[in-house]
Amino acid sequence: MAKKQFKAESKRLLDLMINSIYTHREIFIRELISNSSDAIDKMYYKALTDESIRFDKENYYIEILADKEKRVLTIKDTGIGMTREEMEENLGVIAKSGSLAFKKENDLKDGYDIIGQFGVGFYSAFMVAEDVVVISRAHGSDEAWKWESKGADGYTIEPAQKDSTGTEIILTIKENTEDEHYDDYLEAYRLRALIKKYSDFIRYPIKLEMTRSRLKEGTENDYEEYKELETVNSMVPIWRKNKNELTEEDYESFYSEKHYGFDKPLKYVHMNASGQVSFNAILYIPESIPFDYYTREFEKGLELYSSGVLIMNKCGDLLPDHFSFVKGMVDSEDLSLNISREMLQHDRQLKLIAKNIKNKIKNELLAMLKDDREKYETFFKAFGRQLKFGLYNDFGRNKEDLQDLVLFYSSTERGMVTLAEYVGRMADSQKYIYYATGDAPERIDRMPQTELVADKGYEILYFTDDVDEFAIRMLMSYHDKEFRNVSGGDLGIETEEEQSADGSETNTYSSLFDKMKSQLGDKVTKVRASKRLKHHPVCLASDGELSIEMEKILSAMPN
Ligand code: ADP
Ligand code: MG
Repeated sequence: MAKKQFKAESKRLLDLMINSIYTHREIFIRELISNSSDAIDKMYYKALTDESIRFDKENYYIEILADKEKRVLTIKDTGIGMTREEMEENLGVIAKSGSLAFKKENDLKDGYDIIGQFGVGFYSAFMVAEDVVVISRAHGSDEAWKWESKGADGYTIEPAQKDSTGTEIILTIKENTEDEHYDDYLEAYRLRALIKKYSDFIRYPIKLEMTRSRLKEGTENDYEEYKELETVNSMVPIWRKNKNELTEEDYESFYSEKHYGFDKPLKYVHMNASGQVSFNAILYIPESIPFDYYTREFEKGLELYSSGVLIMNKCGDLLPDHFSFVKGMVDSEDLSLNISREMLQHDRQLKLIAKNIKNKIKNELLAMLKDDREKYETFFKAFGRQLKFGLYNDFGRNKEDLQDLVLFYSSTERGMVTLAEYVGRMADSQKYIYYATGDAPERIDRMPQTELVADKGYEILYFTDDVDEFAIRMLMSYHDKEFRNVSGGDLGIETEEEQSADGSETNTYSSLFDKMKSQLGDKVTKVRASKRLKHHPVCLASDGELSIEMEKILSAMPN
């Protein structure tokens, strides 16, 4: 039998494919299962238009069998199969996708599940197999064909025996090397984990053959091994189910199943968006801070699926930094994937999705703040710092997103308040939003600088987090009300008379103040009289750009 050669370009392409397109060898299983799923989907679509075909769900499935001794892994499906010509075209020509052609021929628009489009996924099998055999019998045909290849050298096609419609992919798995433990791909528990990871939401059952042991009948401690098929995948993704059918427990178990966190989520959000871009998403706000959250190691991102198949574990572009605590997943059919299906081609759709998600999170947080204050404060205790960082970073560009989400401790309410609440309580005479910085509310209470403002009956926000003042400086104002540090220069409180009195007293005691200044040297820039003090003899104030607290923080930072 004559061996057919891959076309010259194909040969080089195949080498490239096998060695460099994919970052993880393990994805071959995802690719082969996706092909089987496509093949079954094609039967399903045929049945929709052809009355002579019955689509009984129980007859359509994917089977995975591993034989460790023979080093053979088999992936079987009861899909549409391939004719000899289709084998030539789809498996002999790299980058020829029969599935893409099928979609075009049948004018299948978005919303259909067929995954294949590039015509390369199949060859990923050569990353783990030294020999690949495909036996297939096409729907409506009584012949079967066998395609076989060891990689770049070419392939053979010959007649074969197969009783029913469908395809079997038979991989002879490579021997272990120093770098790769190929044996893994023959271990049922490992295969099960990979199927769960990549193909959990394939719509048809993926049945994995497991070897189990049981007590031999009629004996007391004599065990025998037997094989059993176990359906591994959950099939219907929770995000495609109707929200009304889902309970809080369903969302919570998805959260822990997916290892988004060990805690219970504080809140979940289920989005089904359509319009400019359609996608489904399930988002969670965790209750507690991940142990590495405020470190460099923390990696933000959501899981990204395309038509139910996992593409990326952590897609960082889907979340702005200030909402980096959000966990969850997004599934969209509108993504342009690159050929390895590990990355995205264009980010236009992704940007749209990210924007939608950002707005949704913002609105959900605002709603929580309004409807469940206690819960919101729990959230804020964990992640408020990140929101404030968000205000500070990006030069206030996140102002609209964040200014109504931040809370500060209030001198009069003795609890956390929003800026809107503060402004709502401002007296007509009050020009500014006042704040004081310090380690803890009790210590700020005792600061001489707060006296004058507090005496006027004005509320003061206590900034106890080192990022607070930086964030507020970036914000500059809230609904046209500027912020003023009580330790700063002009508080907009002193009358002109009081201010000039400061000046005249400074003159009266000038020799005392000169002496104090010369004693203190560089530690202060100026000593002067102040009307701001009530019960305290002295306080420190800053007239410059930076407050005393900010200077402390900056000088404590490593250079
Ligand atoms: P893609 O899935 O992107 O089209 P692949 O390289 O994975 O590319 O597969 C190439 C083509 O081979 C598919 O489009 C399909 O026509 C055919 N094919 C692969 N596997 C199967 C299968 N299990 N059953 C039927 N056809 C298959
Ligand atoms: Mg494919």
